[in-house]
Amino acid sequence: MAERGGKRTKVVATVGPATQAEHMIRSLAQKGVDILRINFSHGTDEGRLAVITAIKKARSELDLPLAILADLQGPKIRLGTFSGGPVEVCSGATLRLVPHCIDGTATEASIDYCLPPQEVKPGETVFINDGLIQLKVRELEGDTLVTDVVKGGMLSDHKGVNFPHSRLNIPSITEKDKHDLLTALRSSVDYVAMSFVRTADDVRQLRTQMEAHGAHVPIVAKIEKWEAVQNIDEILATADAVMVARGDLGVELPVEEIPIIQKRIIALCNKLGKPVITATQMLNSMVDNPSPTRAEVTDVANAIFDGTDAVMLSNETAVGHYPLETVETMGRIIESTERSKLYWQSVDARQMQPSGDTSDAIAHAAVHIAQSVGAKLIVCATESGHTAILVSRYRPHASILALTPSDTVRRRLTLYSGIVPVVVQQFESVDHILRTAVAMARLSHMVRRGDRIIITAGSHAGVTGSTNLIKVEELD
Ligand code: PGA
Ligand code: MN
Repeated sequence: MAERGGKRTKVVATVGPATQAEHMIRSLAQKGVDILRINFSHGTDEGRLAVITAIKKARSELDLPLAILADLQGPKIRLGTFSGGPVEVCSGATLRLVPHCIDGTATEASIDYCLPPQEVKPGETVFINDGLIQLKVRELEGDTLVTDVVKGGMLSDHKGVNFPHSRLNIPSITEKDKHDLLTALRSSVDYVAMSFVRTADDVRQLRTQMEAHGAHVPIVAKIEKWEAVQNIDEILATADAVMVARGDLGVELPVEEIPIIQKRIIALCNKLGKPVITATQMLNSMVDNPSPTRAEVTDVANAIFDGTDAVMLSNETAVGHYPLETVETMGRIIESTERSKLYWQSVDARQMQPSGDTSDAIAHAAVHIAQSVGAKLIVCATESGHTAILVSRYRPHASILALTPSDTVRRRLTLYSGIVPVVVQQFESVDHILRTAVAMARLSHMVRRGDRIIITAGSHAGVTGSTNLIKVEELD
């Protein structure tokens, strides 16, 4: 069994030109990346399929549960192209945004969405390129949006355009998303991320689309619009996982609100036992530098203190000059933070309440027993992954070794804090489960002779949702 060290917080890394070669994917995995994100906003079908093939090859050779997260572009409005290269727009100038194909200039550029008059009002703000350029709507002249440049800057090909104050009726799943979803499902990805979610209904629509293809892949709702922040409870109830997508969130809302929103969303996810990824600019300066800023290191540590399940790298691994160094740095920050007394004080202060459900009562008790007897490992025999997820929610000091007969479940579990997922044979009997648990605990190198481990199992071996037993075992 390949060992993953003692890290609880998981690492998501975005694959891009800097890392799409097979040897780089393998190195990312070896240096501690748990989930690879494929950003469908960039690249071609062929390129993405090649990356997916390379990931599958690497993970089977390394026997690691390297999961694939397919991130759909969603309804992001973008500029067209500027054949003469980037152009500068100056503050005080007029910029016209035209909803059909034209060659961009400093006064006129195309956008790929036609705004009806009821969706955009004079005085509303428009941002380009992650908020670097700020415009103010003057009027809609036919279908051309006439704007005043409030804050100038450089316009270039396909930069993102945000309308943070407008309520746009743009469909949440575009034709491109439908096509990309099919590619993702055919490749059996482990998670699908939905960009610019506004309501729980957006998530339900994506699920319906999946089900039409006979697929049930967990959905990561990316929280990056103010509507999503407003509808967070319903979205969390519907989605399988969440990403605090700070990049677009910081354009849609005042940046100073991000830390509070991040803490709120993470706390809600922890309470519900839904995994949460904290994303964007975590070690951004490492795109160009071999070492991070102090502020970035502190940001990563703080997300871990907040209770995030995973931290994500974007440009750092997609286009950065130091992708492997970034992953190593991330790993060191995680280890150092999780070793600290302060981390465990903040974990213990959260005190999750058990539900009335039998499996959850077992999970809760297993964590308590582990604490009382000083067990370093909780082994969960879990068909669907459910019991291990319940245990993870209590954030035990012990590591969680999840034994599952399913490769798919194994890879899904990799997103959850503290879970080390392993594939075993189909469970035959309680006795078989207990023997396997002890054998796998030994193989994991996470425990030594004389240590005690806690095992959770179900008396109906092989049946999902039947966890009803706990055993304390001393390793001889
Ligand atoms: P993106 O999403 O990288 O796909 O834009 C993350 C974010 O907006 O933070
Ligand atoms: Mn985004």
